[in-house]
Amino acid sequence: MNISKVGVIGAGAMGNGIAQVFAMAGHDVVLNDIKQEFVDRGMNNIKASLDKMSQKGVLSPEQAKTALAKIKPSVNLNDLAGSDFVVEAIIEDVNAKKELFKQLDTLTRPDVILSTNTSSISVTEIAAMTKRPDKVAGMHFMNPVPLMKLVEVVRGLASSDETIKTINELSKKLGKTPVEVNDSPGFISNRVLLPMINEAIYALYEGVATREAIDEVMKLGMNHPLGPLALADLIGLDVCLSILNVLHQGLGDSKYRPCPLLKKMVAAGHLGRKTKKVFYNY
Ligand code: NAD
Repeated sequence: MNISKVGVIGAGAMGNGIAQVFAMAGHDVVLNDIKQEFVDRGMNNIKASLDKMSQKGVLSPEQAKTALAKIKPSVNLNDLAGSDFVVEAIIEDVNAKKELFKQLDTLTRPDVILSTNTSSISVTEIAAMTKRPDKVAGMHFMNPVPLMKLVEVVRGLASSDETIKTINELSKKLGKTPVEVNDSPGFISNRVLLPMINEAIYALYEGVATREAIDEVMKLGMNHPLGPLALADLIGLDVCLSILNVLHQGLGDSKYRPCPLLKKMVAAGHLGRKTKKVFYNY
């Protein structure tokens, strides 16, 4: 399959990075969000990231400029009509994603693969909103996308072998390593990661240790590059809460219940680095 034009929906933390890596690999990208200010913020972040890469010598200034020019900002979903491949990276909300996939199904050619970057939501459920469930699968990038090697490729109940093969090949073309998993709440990455982050938040909530001590123990003791609280701030506390809710409801086990402190911070609009209100100033 010849994939030249790629549609990325959602210009947040993940959508930016996804648009950037596709553009760096030579694809023409349409980066869509609901408001101009969100797309503008996304484009500014991409420019800053490409500039940093060229300062570090990872890319030449010319390559950085060419990659940026390949990304077309958009606030009209119809701009995705000519896409050969789509990655959805909007908010982690099942109804928002289902509604979007219904629209994408009518908007794009029937042969186009519609992938989702969801962290935890059922790929099978999203796929069921379309007339092409065989062409829907998870393409789960890690944060920050330009730096992280893994793409968790999520096979929904109806995803075809061809769809999975295309996403695997595309991931490799982006310089990533695809790992295939089956559709289940949180897949592998977040089913294992989020209980650890939640437990760190509980330890802070119960006064077992300071936030610095919790992160230091996990960095020095377990060789993690970031402590779990700093990582939660990077992921986004709203995203962490949404994933824990999906794990809790989907697997029906109380061990996944989100910590009240996490719920309180999200209710207050303290969402981590993106709002500059992080565990480190709680
Ligand atoms: P984010 O909140 O930074 O960005 C989401 C963006 O989607 C926002 O700009 C919002 O305006 C936009 N949006 C919402 N509804 C939309 C719609 N209908 N059409 C177009 N745009 C819409 O979130 P994020 O951290 O980038 O996460 C995006 C997705 O990636 C989620 O599904 C999340 O679970 C997943 N994910 C996140 C991480 C992470 O570390 N943050 C890692 C892997 C996967």
